[in-house]
Amino acid sequence: MKPISLGCIADDFTGATDLANNLVRAGMRVVQTIGVPDGPLDADVDAVVVALKSRTVPAEQAVAESLAALAWLQGRGAQQIYFKYCSTFDSTAQGNIGPVTEALMDALDTGFTIATPAFPDNQRTVFKGYLFVGDVLLNESGMQNHPLTPMADANLLRVMQAQTRHRVGLIDHRVVARGEVAVRERMAQLQAEGVGVAIVDALSSEDLLRLGGALKGMPLVTAGSGVAIGLPANFGITPSLQASHLPAAGGLQAVVSGSCSLATNRQVLDFIKRGHPALAIEPLRIASGADVAAEVLAWARPLLAQGPVLVYSTADSADVKTVQSRLGAQEAGALVERTLAAVARGLVECGVGQLVVAGGETSGACVQALGITQLQIGPQIDPGVPWCHARPASPRSAPNVIAEAPVADDDPVAIQRVPAMASHDGLHLTLKSGNFGSDDFFTKAFSMLA
Ligand code: ADP
Repeated sequence: MKPISLGCIADDFTGATDLANNLVRAGMRVVQTIGVPDGPLDADVDAVVVALKSRTVPAEQAVAESLAALAWLQGRGAQQIYFKYCSTFDSTAQGNIGPVTEALMDALDTGFTIATPAFPDNQRTVFKGYLFVGDVLLNESGMQNHPLTPMADANLLRVMQAQTRHRVGLIDHRVVARGEVAVRERMAQLQAEGVGVAIVDALSSEDLLRLGGALKGMPLVTAGSGVAIGLPANFGITPSLQASHLPAAGGLQAVVSGSCSLATNRQVLDFIKRGHPALAIEPLRIASGADVAAEVLAWARPLLAQGPVLVYSTADSADVKTVQSRLGAQEAGALVERTLAAVARGLVECGVGQLVVAGGETSGACVQALGITQLQIGPQIDPGVPWCHARPASPRSAPNVIAEAPVADDDPVAIQRVPAMASHDGLHLTLKSGNFGSDDFFTKAFSMLA
């Protein structure tokens, strides 16, 4: 197997897919792994994105997991490491962006890196070190109220400085606009001044492409997914259809939706309006002890041969609040996730070979239940959401992933510790984070594969 060029460590699951999608569009063949792999790669690729769930865990744990990912990527020959975080720089005053960056710098024996969540195509721009989401500053974008990582300051120099012992500096937009050489000169100047981490302004994709050239040979890059568009060219790779090639799709079609975001609510309605069969699951019924997953599968089985079916817990905010007030938000979420994960597994065992999953947490639960450890990244359906392909998993690779999940003894997902895979060649899967995708996303996804 050839060495990989770029090794990536992502601090969450759908963010990893977003990064992988950008690399594929720029011409790289990419595999995303679920956690640090315990076996060889399924395919020859240019880049691997190791998806961790380290954004909000204690900083020491995030550091340990990131270093384990680094060691694995170095073992595969990675020439450059990319630490990927959210484009809204989701972190607390303690981390984890700063501590993980520092630990990776130490391990790579490098005294300098950049940091920028800029992704102008996705309305994330950085100007004078301030992060904008659309037309407003980060701290006016709603992110100031995030339950886990409230972002009350849009000044990334201050935010980063609070998390790291390295001095933080700025490469501002006038330098970036002058191009690669100017950026390199500024980086040398900052290093001479003792700066270890440089926040970089970027207002357009052209800025990111110019920045990309200047990052050639840098041992560690830290960024959102945006910077990825400018890196493949440094390895002599150019956009090609081959990069997103996946095996031909087969099997039946299904959608499992556990996202309650506005976009997903519209997508569920659109799918139903088109006349496809759809079944809503009731969190309160799950809580009452009914075997909802079995009921859903009994409903779906006879319908699958006629076309795609949808199983959803998607509901509007009023309904979600009612359920949460009865069950508690955590408990409701966990019950729904476990049920949808068991449904996803059952559907694949019924012969589903093309599966759409909506919701970030829901995606994590389904991928674990399916025993999937590696995903080859394919063509983009909508910005940030590609089709992926999981080869039939080896029976050896699944149990670790499932066993690590904190599940109850009677959890139906945990009990089935063998990877689910229908008889055809692997599974086509797309993992849509809540607010991504057009209203017709579900039907569009299937027609793309056809
Ligand atoms: P998104 O990407 O939109 O945030 P997630 O899957 O990450 O979607 O999160 C949605 C959370 O809401 C999950 O934990 C899911 O189990 C939970 N959930 C889904 N449907 C309901 C519902 N009807 N009532 C309460 N919680 C729900």
